[in-house]
Amino acid sequence: MFNPPSPHEVKILTRRFGVQNSHTIDASLAHQGYDGLKKAIAMGADAVINEIKASALRGRGGAGFPTGMKWSFIPRTSPKPKYIVCNADESEPGTCKDRLLIQNDPHSLIEGIAIAGFTMNSNRGYIYVRGEYRYLIYILETAIAEAYKHNLLGQNILGTGWNFDLFVHSGAGAYECGEESALLNSLEGKRGTPRLKPPFPATHGLYQSPTLLNNVESFCAVTHIIRDGAADFAKHGPEKSGGTRLMCISGHVQRPGVYEMPLSTTLPFLINEVGGGLRPGRTLKAVQPGGSSSPILLPEECNVGLDFDSLAKAGTMAGSGGIVVLDDTADIVAYALRIIRFYQHESCGWCIPCREGTTWLKKILERLNQGEGTMKDVDLVGELAKNMFGRTFCALGDAAAWPTGSIVKKFRGEFETKLAAVQARQVPAELVNIG
Ligand code: SF4
Repeated sequence: MFNPPSPHEVKILTRRFGVQNSHTIDASLAHQGYDGLKKAIAMGADAVINEIKASALRGRGGAGFPTGMKWSFIPRTSPKPKYIVCNADESEPGTCKDRLLIQNDPHSLIEGIAIAGFTMNSNRGYIYVRGEYRYLIYILETAIAEAYKHNLLGQNILGTGWNFDLFVHSGAGAYECGEESALLNSLEGKRGTPRLKPPFPATHGLYQSPTLLNNVESFCAVTHIIRDGAADFAKHGPEKSGGTRLMCISGHVQRPGVYEMPLSTTLPFLINEVGGGLRPGRTLKAVQPGGSSSPILLPEECNVGLDFDSLAKAGTMAGSGGIVVLDDTADIVAYALRIIRFYQHESCGWCIPCREGTTWLKKILERLNQGEGTMKDVDLVGELAKNMFGRTFCALGDAAAWPTGSIVKKFRGEFETKLAAVQARQVPAELVNIG
């Protein structure tokens, strides 16, 4: 299921959504399914990589690294096996679009992975699915079986002599396994903690072999880029952030949902025209534009484009495409606590700044939210977040520190007001909303 479409959407990756039985290979083949794979085989590997570079596609998992460049790093002639791994461990709060792509058009994903397999001279691929998304495994495995039957996977694919097998692997419900090296450890059957980098997965990935790792939306985009050409995709975004992306808008808007929008879309347009604006009589308090790990924006900072570079310039990030809108009814202290509870729970515990930092941030924010702290505690939260940032083994520590630090900095007055209000009323702590 998905929300009704918006007339402002540009439907490239979602073009088959709404087609009857869109998850089946018959529906896919009736709508140009696997034309991209056939074209890739005719073009050859070098031309495929150049086409992806020309599309200005940037990874949709969160980091926004140029996909064509990533593909060019894989040593395709290495005598070691080359692996293709799809990160379907979508877990960032506020982000829920990869599951829609799998539910509605799994063949677009399988085709993108097969294009990567052909390009990298690989014979084996894996789709690592978030533990909580186990219901998607049946859809994926059914679609994969259909692709085998049509000789689009398996032996001597389309008479080329190239063999490629694709497997689905379930995670166990750990956010941390969305980090690429933790995912690879988990896929190998080890504990899902990140690896020291370098070396990077491009050369030392799964089983220490060259590995191309992209997320669901990135592979789906590849399918359409190769089929329709790079220019057709790139034209929907700024020069260095090509195409469309599935934007998930949630929170205090009238039409929350997942919309495929050009990357040239601005944040006010998304909130007002696509998301239906705020509820009547309400005013904007803040926006998190790139999932729960992105620094928060004040209303006066929201006149910004939603492409990777514009958001970075505004001091935040595009991240995974989850846009959370908060109006004036939002309790920002409870919101900060809600975020840090998530990261504290998901910290793998490997490194001290993250393990201890998230634990103490949570404890102090719980105290503040119950009106039991002082303004010195607010400063302490800011200091802790500052000291965590850039000092953790992987990006989860930053993901916890960055939004927390920005909330404390930009909403110091709200902390003060909440403390004063709770202490003046002497409300028993157990009766205070703890988010
Ligand atoms: Fe684990 Fe957090 Fe350290 Fe990442 S930053 S390795 S999640 S403890």
